[in-house]
Amino acid sequence: MKPIVLHVTAELSPHHKSGGLGDVLAGLPPALARLGVDVRVVTGFYGSASKVAGLDLRPWDAPIDVSIAGNRMEARVFEARTHGGSVTTYFVEAPHLSRGKLYGYDDDLYRFAILGRAAVEIGLVLDRMGTPPAILHAHDWHAASAVLYARTWPGPLRGVPSLITIHNLAYQGLAPASQAGFLGYSPETYHHALAFDGALNLLKGAFVVADRITTVSPTYAREIRTARYGHDLEHVLRWLSPKLIGILNGIDAESWNPATDRALGAAYSASDPEGKLACRDALRFELGLSPGRSPVFGVVSRFTSQKGIDWVGEIAPQLVRQGGQLVVLGEGDAALEHRLYWAAQRLRGSVVYVRAFDDGLARRIYAGSDMFLMPSRFEPCGLTQMYAMRYGAVPIARATGGLVDTVAPLHSQYDVGGATGILYEEESAEALAGAVEWGIQVARDPGAMHALRQNGMRSDFSWERSAETYLEVYMDLGLELDAP
Ligand code: ADP
Repeated sequence: MKPIVLHVTAELSPHHKSGGLGDVLAGLPPALARLGVDVRVVTGFYGSASKVAGLDLRPWDAPIDVSIAGNRMEARVFEARTHGGSVTTYFVEAPHLSRGKLYGYDDDLYRFAILGRAAVEIGLVLDRMGTPPAILHAHDWHAASAVLYARTWPGPLRGVPSLITIHNLAYQGLAPASQAGFLGYSPETYHHALAFDGALNLLKGAFVVADRITTVSPTYAREIRTARYGHDLEHVLRWLSPKLIGILNGIDAESWNPATDRALGAAYSASDPEGKLACRDALRFELGLSPGRSPVFGVVSRFTSQKGIDWVGEIAPQLVRQGGQLVVLGEGDAALEHRLYWAAQRLRGSVVYVRAFDDGLARRIYAGSDMFLMPSRFEPCGLTQMYAMRYGAVPIARATGGLVDTVAPLHSQYDVGGATGILYEEESAEALAGAVEWGIQVARDPGAMHALRQNGMRSDFSWERSAETYLEVYMDLGLELDAP
């Protein structure tokens, strides 16, 4: 029998995602399954926000108990083979949790406590069936409660080794200290694990009780121990350093492949790149950009201050003056949306802003862009720069987090070597403008562009290497693989 690793996550592509977390949970589990692990995923069922058409969802016979602190609640579990049949996923339909949107409610903390509670209950069911989870692996604050409940409540899951993976330290799951009892925590657990700065901090609690803390790139693992990137938890992470490790994310090379991507009008690959030009023309036509030879700069992003979208808005006029065109897809912070909207109004024909979450258009932007902007203030790993490279768009990124670990920086356009993109350091609009100015020069140099594109498209960002490192961590915690 293969050992079971139980993952707990709010997001799971293609069923429901708001960012990279969903993509990671689409890519990592099947790669682990290929290494001989029986991977199970617990995630929410959010009603209309969950796309589950085409899945053979089998409801469990009986509801599960997800009561917290005496509040009686039951949830329904729908089991399905996902990830092309290699993984078992449990979709949890529960009060509060299943409401039509993933996030954005006042009681999100309670909603995801219920998800954590359900994961524990599913673990207990597996235990009663004689197939207990060998490892519990929780992702981000939404799943932190799973680790906390498993470790601090009495029961057979107490001794199951656990990991918490930080996909973004900016989101920690905070509540007033007075909520601890309501969320099912004893005063001891609150003081020993959850208490931070006079409040309850779920992520910090999971850091304390989990056996390992992982994050999604080696550079981010170093950065989050510093005041600049630690989101106030740098001291805690320095203290817990011996159990913190950075493992670089991969991308799903099958789903993200310009040779087979059905969202694109033309197929292409590193060995047959012609179709990329057709994709660029098609993108211009689709979005109403003037036809011509100007290099196209793309952005696909959540709109939060993390992503440096304000700087993109600020430099847009300069980018256009220098002969570039800009396509931005994203939604989120209203002030940032407003800023991009007005930039696009003023620079009509050269700048387009689409306020939407649209996977197909995102893919056409990766394919139709010459360059891809990622001026992040911080970036735990970042997947979009990898998708961009795979689709032959050259990233221009700030040198932080996973961007450092995935983009090989260009030093001279006359000697591209193994470079795949442009990295710059400083956090400012001027620094981004400088990098874009260089990018426009490079985009007009066919030899340099060809070499950069080829390097990017041929880079190996597969999940296999990451999955092997996760497996090493699991084995370090006692997981034993059966001989094949
Ligand atoms: P983060 O997780 O911080 O949002 P990542 O780069 O890790 O950033 O992952 C972002 C993921 O979300 C990518 O798959 C990207 O294509 C997708 N994405 C972000 N914004 C949009 C959007 N507006 N429409 C479609 N896909 C988007």
